[in-house]
Amino acid sequence: VEELSGQSRAMSAPEREEIASIVGDAHLLISPGDLAPYARDAVEGLESFPSAVARPRTTVEVSRLLAFCNQRGIPVTPQAGRTGLSGGAVPLFGGLGLSLERMDTILEVDTRNLVAVVEAGVLTQRLHEAVGEHGLRYPPDPSSRGSCTIGGNVAENAGGPHSARYGVTGRWVLGLEAVLASGEVIVTGGKTRKDVAGYDLTALLVGSEGTLAVVTKAWLRLVHEPASVAVIVAPFPTLEQAADAVVALHSQGLVPAACEFVDRASLEVSARRKGISVPFPEAEARLIVEFDGGDDAEVERDVTRAGEIALEGGALDVLLATDPPRRRALWELRSGIGEAVRDLGPSAELDLAVPRTALAQLVRGVRRIAEEAGLRAVSFGHAADGNVHVHLYREGSAAPDLFQRTTTALYAHAVSLGGTVTGEHGVGVTSRAHLHLQRSPAYLAVLRAIKEALDPRGILNPGKLLPESPAPLR
Ligand SMILES: Cc1cc2nc3c(=O)[nH]c(=O)nc-3n(C[C@H](O)[C@H](O)[C@H](O)COP(=O)(O)OP(=O)(O)OC[C@H]3O[C@@H](n4cnc5c(N)ncnc54)[C@H](O)[C@@H]3O)c2cc1C
Repeated sequence: VEELSGQSRAMSAPEREEIASIVGDAHLLISPGDLAPYARDAVEGLESFPSAVARPRTTVEVSRLLAFCNQRGIPVTPQAGRTGLSGGAVPLFGGLGLSLERMDTILEVDTRNLVAVVEAGVLTQRLHEAVGEHGLRYPPDPSSRGSCTIGGNVAENAGGPHSARYGVTGRWVLGLEAVLASGEVIVTGGKTRKDVAGYDLTALLVGSEGTLAVVTKAWLRLVHEPASVAVIVAPFPTLEQAADAVVALHSQGLVPAACEFVDRASLEVSARRKGISVPFPEAEARLIVEFDGGDDAEVERDVTRAGEIALEGGALDVLLATDPPRRRALWELRSGIGEAVRDLGPSAELDLAVPRTALAQLVRGVRRIAEEAGLRAVSFGHAADGNVHVHLYREGSAAPDLFQRTTTALYAHAVSLGGTVTGEHGVGVTSRAHLHLQRSPAYLAVLRAIKEALDPRGILNPGKLLPESPAPLR
């Protein structure tokens, strides 16, 4: 951000008036107090104010806003729940924050086609509850679901614990309505399940982090709620044993609905915050594994086998829960870790992912690299997907460049294991400078060509995803 300071685009009074004429005075925010929440997302220490925030209610309003900003060269940062962990919703260049929060209608739950049609600003949890009333499920479940939106999930291709079996957001998106930088509106799909007419623009927009278009509506696949669910928690003496058990479960044909990994340090901080005590506090790592299925017998067979595999792999015990209150109690160990680890001190967060078989190597390497730098690291995450969230911290203050050097080494470590610099949080600002570790120059050139084709003036979310600082607006 420092590197970009001084480039913030202010908006003139006539420009603000034009925007107010589109969204209405009440939905154009300009006072510093009103703008403050729109200057940040969930990345610690990253703040940059927009010159104004517009809160449109309709696709037509979004279209008129973008057409105007494109004509004037005003940077536009799409914003939704602002829970992002890669800085994507932070308006690095000032200009307009375009908040989708008022576009929050669930337009339809089609129980026969098993499709929900929603506006982009619908909170993910609200959709879960709405389809749940019909005995249906929208599986993507980021831990932030109470405050993040479908549009933000689409833009980041968000995952969650149940990605283990159900995959990430993109797998559930049948079509999108989106507004291009020019203000033109495109629809990329709909209720039809198979559709190969042309390039897959739905897939292109999923994960595009607000840099190619503003998503206004989504058609989402649903499934029936499973009839039976059970959860086991297995504490392991060592991290390696837990990681090996994850591989063993999958290679023996089991498909957990969720398979989460929590290391000792992250569990301790979460338990302390919640005031709960956990059994086997000496365990270096534990797995929380959920199975679901069409009937109790099927699920019982799977949890029994999973429990055996865990014990054969050295688990100290296996705790089982089938009824909802007890299941919730076991999940309690995992939920809230993301927030709790922030109590630990000045920090940096990474979202690394590697092939499942490299999980132990990844976490071991993270500890070694952190220790060598005089920092500490806690790790937790979606073990089935090899996706580990690393919280790097130091008790007391630390020079920011120490974090920078260490995070670069950690990204390089993940890539050397065949992994990625971001599993689910997106490139945004935080991983932008490290994308070249993973992607070839030719790959990056394709990204730039796509950006140039869809947003030739570079108004959409400048400073995000692409590795280089953006050229000044053209
Ligand atoms: C406690 C906590 C737990 C989390 N757990 C998870 C998790 O389990 N899995 C996971 O994947 N992530 C997780 N996250 C990260 C975050 O919640 C997700 O990335 C989420 O998808 C962001 O949604 P949002 O609505 O808050 O979007 P924002 O943060 O507002 O925006 C995110 C990005 O999307 C763009 N954007 C937003 N809306 C639109 C739109 N309509 N059209 C185009 N672009 C748009 C923005 O410009 C920005 O680049 C967590 C975050 C926190 C704080």
